[in-house]
Amino acid sequence: MARLLGHARYVFGGLLLLTIALLVWQHVGMEEVLELGAGHFPVKVTDDRAEGGASQGWVERKGQDLVMHCRLDKKIDWPHCKLSFDFLKGAKGIDMSRFDYMIVDATYAGPRPMKFGVVVSEVEEGYTRFDTWQSYKVEQVESLDLPSNGHMVIPMNWFVVAQWWKEMAKPPIEHSIVNLDNIVYLDLLSNFGGGEGERILTVHSLRLHGKLISRDTLLLWLVGAWVACAVGWLAVLTLSLRGQLKDSEAAIELLSTVNKALELEARDLAGQAYIDPLTGVLNRQGLRAALMSTSSLLADPMAVIFIDIDHFKSINDTHGHDVGDDVLRKFANVIASGIRSSDRLVRWGGEEFLIVCPMTNVYQGKILAENLRHALHHHTWPAGLRVTASFGVAQHHEYDEVGVVIKNADEELYRAKRSGRDRVCAHIPGELTVAATAA
Ligand code: GH3
Ligand code: MG
Ligand code: MG
Repeated sequence: MARLLGHARYVFGGLLLLTIALLVWQHVGMEEVLELGAGHFPVKVTDDRAEGGASQGWVERKGQDLVMHCRLDKKIDWPHCKLSFDFLKGAKGIDMSRFDYMIVDATYAGPRPMKFGVVVSEVEEGYTRFDTWQSYKVEQVESLDLPSNGHMVIPMNWFVVAQWWKEMAKPPIEHSIVNLDNIVYLDLLSNFGGGEGERILTVHSLRLHGKLISRDTLLLWLVGAWVACAVGWLAVLTLSLRGQLKDSEAAIELLSTVNKALELEARDLAGQAYIDPLTGVLNRQGLRAALMSTSSLLADPMAVIFIDIDHFKSINDTHGHDVGDDVLRKFANVIASGIRSSDRLVRWGGEEFLIVCPMTNVYQGKILAENLRHALHHHTWPAGLRVTASFGVAQHHEYDEVGVVIKNADEELYRAKRSGRDRVCAHIPGELTVAATAA
C-alpha cells in the first residue's frame, strides 16, 4: 500500500504532463479535415431555368477541380447558378457540427465583384420528411466576397437559418435554430451580381476543418481522469492510513503490556530495595519509606522497641554462619508473629531489630516486648540452641524527631545488655530507670 502511495507522484506527474501535452496538441494540431470536393461526392449544377429564368449553367471536372460555367441571363430578378453537392447516403448526411470552419479554394473568371453564398440543407430528426423538400432545414452564409487569392475561410458559426425558409416553413421554435449535425446537401450559390455574361468558378477544393477531439470533450475527459486519479489516490490513502492506524493500535497495545510488566517489575525492584533479603522484614530504607507513606505510623502515642540477640557471635562461632543465618530468619519470624499488623518490624542491622508500634504507649510497648521475650524462650531453635534477646523500649513524644525515640530505645537496650541480657528495659519519662525484668 505504501509502495502504491509512493507511485502516486509518478501517476500525478504523468497525468499532468499528459494534460499539458493533450491541451497543447488540441490547440495547435489534432486537425480533422474532410474534403467535400475533388470527386468525393456527387455534384451537379442547377441554374434558374426551373424558376422561369434563362441562365445556363453546367459543370465539368478537370482533374481535382470542379469547374462551374454560368451564363447569366437577367430574365428574372434573381438570376443564379449553383453548384450542388449531394451527401445523402441512406438517410444520413454529414455531421458538420464537429467542424470549426469551412475553407473554399476557388478561382473566378468573369465580371466583378464576385459574390457567392453557401447554403446547406439539414435533415432534422423528427421534423424533416424526405418527400417534402420544405421540411429540409435551410442554413446559409450569404454575400461572401471571394478574395483575390481565392482562399475563403468560413467559420461554421457564421451559418444562420435562412429567413425565407423560416417564413415559408414556419417551423416550431425547437427546429428553427442552427443545427449542422446532419447536412445532406450543400450549394455553392453564385449570386454573382454585376451584368450578364459568362462566369467561370473553378473550385479547387472545399474542405471542412475541425479538431479530432473538441476542446470541451477533451476538458471533460481530462477532468474525468483527474477526478478518477484523485478518488483512487484517496481510496489508497484511506486504506493505507487505516492499516497504519491498526499497526499503531497494535504497537500501543504492545507498549502498554510491556509498560505494565515493567511497572510491576519496577515495583518489585523498589519493594526489594526496602526488604531485607535474609529475613524478609523491612530494612532501614523500608522503614523510612513506610514512615513517609503511612503517616498513621507516627500517630501518638507511638512506641519503639529495639531488640538485639544475645551473644549471637558465639552462635556463629560455634555452629557456623549458616546456622547463624537460620537463627536470624527464625528470630524475625517469631517476632513478626508476635506483633500486630499495624506494627512494623525492621532489621536494623546484623542481629539488631526494631519494632515501630503506633497507638502504643511505653507501658504497652513494654508488655509487648515481654511477650516477645517469652515467645523466644518457648521457640525451638536449630541445633538445640537457646536464643534470647535484650529489649529497649521508648515512647515517641510530640514534636520530638523520630531519631530521638530510636536513640532512647537504643539506650534502654544498652541498659538491658549491661543489666545481664534477656530482659526488657523501658524509658519512662520522669523515671530514671525502670526495673529491668529478668527471665
Ligand atoms: P551481645 O550479646 O553483646 O549483643 O553480643 P553479640 O555477640 O550478639 O554481639 P556482637 O556485636 O559482638 O556480635 C554480633 C555478631 O553478629 C557479629 C556478626 O558476625 C554477626 N552477624 C551480623 N550480621 C550477621 C548475619 O547476617 N549473619 C550471621 N550469621 N551473622 C551475622
Ligand atoms: Mg549487636
Ligand atoms: Mg547481640
